[in-house]
Amino acid sequence: MVVVMKERVTTEQVERVIAHLVELGMDVHRSTGAARVVLGVVGSGKVDPRLIEMMDGVHEVLRITEPYKLASRTFKPEDTVFSIGDVRIGGDEVIVIAGPCSAENEAQVNATAAAVKRAGAKAFRGGAFKPRSSPYSFQGLGEEGLRLLRNAANAHDLKLVTEVMDISQIEVIDKYADVFQVGARNMQNFTLLRELGRTRKTILLKRGISATIEEWLLSAEYVLAGGNTQVILCERGIRTFETQTRNTLDISAIPIVKQLSHLPVFVDPSHGTGRRDKVAPMARAAVAAGADGLLIEVHCDPDHALSDGAQSLFPSQFDRLMAELRIIAPAIGRSICLEPIARRGWAR
Ligand code: PEP
Ligand code: MN
Repeated sequence: MVVVMKERVTTEQVERVIAHLVELGMDVHRSTGAARVVLGVVGSGKVDPRLIEMMDGVHEVLRITEPYKLASRTFKPEDTVFSIGDVRIGGDEVIVIAGPCSAENEAQVNATAAAVKRAGAKAFRGGAFKPRSSPYSFQGLGEEGLRLLRNAANAHDLKLVTEVMDISQIEVIDKYADVFQVGARNMQNFTLLRELGRTRKTILLKRGISATIEEWLLSAEYVLAGGNTQVILCERGIRTFETQTRNTLDISAIPIVKQLSHLPVFVDPSHGTGRRDKVAPMARAAVAAGADGLLIEVHCDPDHALSDGAQSLFPSQFDRLMAELRIIAPAIGRSICLEPIARRGWAR
């Protein structure tokens, strides 16, 4: 931390600040320039920079270390890579998670799982507990949805990612899923994050709808602090003044987070744009920008989907996107499910 004193500071004011910092367990290195006194502050004490900024004679306080530790690259310089069964997250391969917004019925879940597997997805997504903006919208099938999703994932050798909205759902979801998804609306549900930190399953942590990158990394810190090191960060668009898209997908968050943190970064272009015609361009951009994976909504019959149909890809569009990603990924030294399970003609 660096404390910059005001230009016309008195010696007593400087000494009072130094004494206070020393009392808090810090070492203070004082330098006096032509115009200002600057204090370099290091140590393991707990200091609230805003309180120091309130002291007489202080111009501003600059933090030089991140407020999160376990999530930071300073703490762990090498990329975090881990496996969910035979699927490696954070390695050279770009991992694609795809499936419907919600589990609706057995036929829909099975047809969609078959389609995403054929195109090269490694994991199946689908919600059984849905955080809907309106209490009158479809809320998900609950445990029956989990059962349908798990059966379809098993039948097609896919890992299963599903959303947990509340601590009370952890136990039942744990029986079915490989990855707990924490949705945008819950990114700062700290009790939920703490509880998930006690599990030993992968947590896919979406960025909150109006969360800064620092707040997002602090939320990841809650999970890491509980001893669960398997955290995936997922950019899913933030709320801005723009109305053309459902959210504004922050592609620049990818290189920024990869610099600040060692954790794998995924991108969800479906919620990021809200429109299926914008999903493929943003998915391509995300991979080109260095995303470690994608989370994409695909539905066997999106026009009749019970949630998020407008942003769900038809299977043929998903096939085509995967084929395009197979060209983009190697250009930046990545791979992506090199052998498609079956080649199909794509609808143009
Ligand atoms: C979802 O993935 O279906 C979802 C609800 O996402 P988000 O939390 O990003 O809105
Ligand atoms: Mn959705």
